[in-house]
Amino acid sequence: MNGKTTATKGLKLAGQLFAVYSNGKLVASVYNSKEQGIDTGTKYATVCEIHSIIAAESRISTAKRDAMNTQEFCEECAGH
Ligand SMILES: [Zn+2]
Repeated sequence: MNGKTTATKGLKLAGQLFAVYSNGKLVASVYNSKEQGIDTGTKYATVCEIHSIIAAESRISTAKRDAMNTQEFCEECAGH
């Protein structure tokens, strides 16, 4: 939490706490909502990076679990 933002090809990774990669591609992340600027009303947010779907998460454990199972909150992932 140093307040610095690292921008990589337009991706805003501020507040990223956990990341899930598939074949070297970022597919899901858990963010500190406030640091990322996501207004979820919860401390954490799990994001399907493929479909830009955001799930509000109050517990880091659940947030990480959802990040590893994006079909739990992303209808696009669930539909494929
Ligand atoms: Zn998805």
